[in-house]
Amino acid sequence: MSRFLDAEAIEAGVQALARAIRERVGEAPVALVGIRSRGDEVAERVCRVLAEEDADLLYGTLDISLYRDDYEHLHENPQLQGSEIDFEIEGAHIILVDDVLFTGRTTRAALDALCDYGRPARIELAVLIDRGHREMPIQPDYVGIHLETERRDHVYVLLEGTDGEDKVEVRPA
Ligand code: 5GP
Ligand code: MG
Repeated sequence: MSRFLDAEAIEAGVQALARAIRERVGEAPVALVGIRSRGDEVAERVCRVLAEEDADLLYGTLDISLYRDDYEHLHENPQLQGSEIDFEIEGAHIILVDDVLFTGRTTRAALDALCDYGRPARIELAVLIDRGHREMPIQPDYVGIHLETERRDHVYVLLEGTDGEDKVEVRPA
């Protein structure tokens, strides 16, 4: 049977991410870089929450479709939307942001893509949902929602800005 997270739970996840990031970032400029698609919306929403608290973060997006090691196996046709990073990567403190962390392969690819731009001082990882089942030695530094799933479950994520509503469905295979 399917399980759902409603809009309230998703907004609470965004707020939890923003709080955790706020507590740990120092005075140095921090850049949130959202992985397309939907990681960019999560990053944007976290930036918005923190901007209300006068914590201004840099913002960028990364499109890593071409860097995935399992490119041919992706069930969705990846849509290349391009990356937008218009600040200096060299020496920056970057927090990569994604909607769902699963095997870790996307994060690995994002690290490759990011390092093509330069040498950041530090890179961290923030995810709205950690659904477990890693296949790479990659762990998030900030998590909005821990979601227990089976390896074969499908997790459907809809976000307000991208899809018109906030909703997560965990559907058994
Ligand atoms: P990973 O590379 O860690 O397996 O997957 C992370 C990326 O693929 C994220 O950008 C996420 O959007 C997408 N992804 C992986 N697994 C799922 C899933 O179960 N549901 C959704 N909605 N996206 C997923
Ligand atoms: Mg994503």
